[in-house]
Amino acid sequence: MEPIKRIHHISAIVGDPNENLKFYRDVLGLRLIKQTVNFDDPGVYHLYFSNHQVTPGTVITFFPWTNNNYGTKGSGQVGRIAFRIPKGSFNYWKEHLASQNLKVEITQLFGKDTLEFDDIHGLELAMVEGEKSADRPDIIGFHGSVLLSEHPNATKKLLVDSMGLKELDYNDQNIHVETVGEEKHHIITSVPPQPVGRFGIGTVHHIAWSVPDLDALKEWQNLLFEENIGATVVKDRNYFNSVYSIEKGKIVFEFATDGPGFTIDEDIASLGTTLQLPKQYEQNRPTYETLLPKLDI
Ligand code: ZN
Repeated sequence: MEPIKRIHHISAIVGDPNENLKFYRDVLGLRLIKQTVNFDDPGVYHLYFSNHQVTPGTVITFFPWTNNNYGTKGSGQVGRIAFRIPKGSFNYWKEHLASQNLKVEITQLFGKDTLEFDDIHGLELAMVEGEKSADRPDIIGFHGSVLLSEHPNATKKLLVDSMGLKELDYNDQNIHVETVGEEKHHIITSVPPQPVGRFGIGTVHHIAWSVPDLDALKEWQNLLFEENIGATVVKDRNYFNSVYSIEKGKIVFEFATDGPGFTIDEDIASLGTTLQLPKQYEQNRPTYETLLPKLDI
């Protein structure tokens, strides 16, 4: 089986959808590419953002809860999400984020200068410079993420031995691995034990790994059973097919196909401009349009 080459998307739970939109579109400069509903809880938005080119593997998605139910960060979750920025843009972003009254901190979390900050709902984010410079400081995509595993060695074994990620560093704080595709997404598994997390606003729900097609997805599903981890049935997510699994460190891993992609119901220029519903919910469109807060598009 081909190793996992990159992240497919990362999905997090946040607060008010318009605050979410303003932060990721206006502060971080990402593009809203899809407004749809949570297919498992259709009274809640599912908002997708990506870089401006809608490059595969740059998608971050949000379930904006309006119930004020904040989560607790901890083991069994994906932790801080890092974006990759062009070489030479670190100071631009440091000043830009500070000008938005965000608290920024420079650490070495990803083995080099890492700009750590939180979004307006307490979701932990970071920026790390990539190898290439660019005309504009725009976010390129993900640099990677932190995993808060209940069993770091079991998580590392799955990542390296089964999924084919490459081990870069292993010390008493972090296990640092990277995907083998050209994006080289960096995954840091924290080693020190920490209390169990609880999902809610300000926490990451899952990380999805990219697989080429439905056949490959079924192979990964089989492998997850062979590894005594287990997985869901194949789910039709309209824009991709997925299986979900709770790995041995209790983190939700999704495996998702690259296709059919985000242009199946909107052309590239109109992505994200109107509410898109999968066919099972289309008949209830008026209900959802009344229920969901209007977005300040
Ligand atoms: Zn997902």
